[in-house]
Amino acid sequence: MSNETLFAEALTHFPGGVSSPVRAFRAVGGTPKFFKKASGAWFEDEDGQRFLDLCMSWGPLILGHAHPDILAAVNEAMHEGLTFGAPSRRELALARRIKEMVPFIEKMRFVSSGTEAVMSALRAARGFTGRDRILKFDGCYHGHSDGLLVKAGSGLVTFGAPTSAGVPRAIAELTSVVSLDDLETLERTFAEVGNELAAAIIEPIPANNGLLLQRPEFLRRLRELCTKHGVVLIFDEVISGFRVAPGGAAERLGITPDLGTYGKIIGGGMPVGLYGGRKDIMGVVAPDGPVYQAGTLSGNPVAMAAGLATMEKLTPAFYADLEAQAAKWATAFETIPGLHCPRYGSLLWPLFQDGVRRSDAVKGGAISSFNRLHKALLGQGVYLPPSGYEVAFLGAAHGEPELAHFKQAVAAVAKDFA
Ligand SMILES: *Cc1c(COP(=O)(O)O)cnc(C)c1O
Repeated sequence: MSNETLFAEALTHFPGGVSSPVRAFRAVGGTPKFFKKASGAWFEDEDGQRFLDLCMSWGPLILGHAHPDILAAVNEAMHEGLTFGAPSRRELALARRIKEMVPFIEKMRFVSSGTEAVMSALRAARGFTGRDRILKFDGCYHGHSDGLLVKAGSGLVTFGAPTSAGVPRAIAELTSVVSLDDLETLERTFAEVGNELAAAIIEPIPANNGLLLQRPEFLRRLRELCTKHGVVLIFDEVISGFRVAPGGAAERLGITPDLGTYGKIIGGGMPVGLYGGRKDIMGVVAPDGPVYQAGTLSGNPVAMAAGLATMEKLTPAFYADLEAQAAKWATAFETIPGLHCPRYGSLLWPLFQDGVRRSDAVKGGAISSFNRLHKALLGQGVYLPPSGYEVAFLGAAHGEPELAHFKQAVAAVAKDFA
């Protein structure tokens, strides 16, 4: 069956025809590609067309689609049982590997998604500090839990307002929202409500509204203010964790948070999330402490196997190679007239604008040009994330043959952007 036929049916089953909104292609227009099968950096859609994938399931697939070693590990694990609802040795193996890679994680808990990791970390921070208020940054995404679908309220920075229907105002008001790169408002917010804050949460490499690279001093000052006011600093490393360095953004920036949240790569393509960090804070989590958090499928043995098979390959040399390779792709992107491609590790943000550090600085024209580029590159067999506010994800599967295909595609469309 074709993409069109499948999507027509999908619309009768699912809101917008999809299981997660950005997949609906509403931003770029057209019919979403139905993935039929994938391997390495390539996938085939239900029309039988092949595409070079630069979205890679939004981050988990740092080794590529259907990596043989991950498949073998999953295969072995699944024959020993799909879920136990009880402890199993694979959780320990993955935990050991995580502690090797991220030294500040003293204790951790596995969950099943990034959203769940963030939601649980915030509850732990609230339980630990006995405070209710949290601070987040406009332009960062932390999953879809109530307290985080919040923007700055009008007037006072103190009380947030919901960005989604269905989020109670009373919950949104417990979240304070500050713009990225706005040191002055950050200082003022801590001066006003610092001692009421349980936690401050940030994507240290904000990569969910484009790639909004922050000045290091902004993040360093946030660390200082959290320490001064007894606020739990949470780095949401669901994207940056295990992607930009073995120890994620915390390692690369040289800033240690109190808790970290992880997802995407950590499950190697299976649903895994994790929160962890200081053992005194994690000590409040049940059954050691009074903060309840649980999961039927948490620490799922098959998912643990996929995660471990992935993490075993993520050595310092792996990241050095990926960095060098990713730089070539950014250069290739920039041969398109007017296009800039900020990059951090293997995260790339193709945008027809330069020097953006806040999502509200992105111009409408930059996004409409991206939408044209998305369509043009699809026509050349290259699949970008279907929104100009999303970053492209590269990985070990994006080698020289893929780069050659990409360069050819870019050369074919470049003249339309001159
Ligand atoms: C993807 C993402 C999440 C949410 O993770 P899900 O697994 O989609 O629930 C949270 N935080 C960040 C930084 C993310 O990129």
